[in-house]
This record gives sequence, C-alpha cells and structure tokens, in this order.
Amino acid sequence: MKRAERPIKSLERMREQERIFKRAKRKKDKSVLEKERARKDPLYKLRDRVGAKLRYAVKTGKVKKPDTCEKCNKKPEAHHIDYRFPLSVKWLCDSHHRLKHC
Ligand SMILES: [Zn+2]
Ligand SMILES: [Zn+2]
Repeated sequence: MKRAERPIKSLERMREQERIFKRAKRKKDKSVLEKERARKDPLYKLRDRVGAKLRYAVKTGKVKKPDTCEKCNKKPEAHHIDYRFPLSVKWLCDSHHRLKHC
C-alpha cells in the first residue's frame, strides 16, 4: 500500500512547514518568512527583482514617476503590464491598481 501513504506524508510535511513558519513568525525570522512568501506566490521573487530594477530606473531618472495616478489625482504606484519588461509600467494609485488585479 505504498500509494496510500503518500498523501499522508505530504500532509505531515505541510504541517511541519507550517510549524516552522509559525516559529519563524514569532521570532521574526526574515529568511524563513521570505521563503514562505515565495512558496505561496511563485511570482514574488520575480516581482521583487522587477521592482528593484524599476526603483533603480526611477532613481537614476531613466523612468519618470508621475506625481499622480493615470486615472485620478492620488499618489501612484507602478503596475507592470508584463514582467518581462521591468520598465514598462502604468502608474496607478492604490485603488485603481487593485482594479487591474482582480
Ligand atoms: Zn487612481
Ligand atoms: Zn499591478
């Protein structure tokens, strides 16, 4: 009955990971928390890298960050149309950005 054992094993592994995560959260262990985030969100690392590239481009003046959202007058944040192009972004405020992601 080797096949039947497998789901239980993976469940135990999941529980173990949760235990590690909870412990890390208590201790505020950043590396474990980051790993957990990356596991839950496969795009997290990519987004992080792309975001860093964009921040650098804004800092060096390569990309101009506007003062307001494209749709309203609130403070904008970068929305990536395609993560393959880190510098190709739309500048949207919090609420208009969220609309793009639902
Ligand atoms: Zn807006
Ligand atoms: Zn976005």
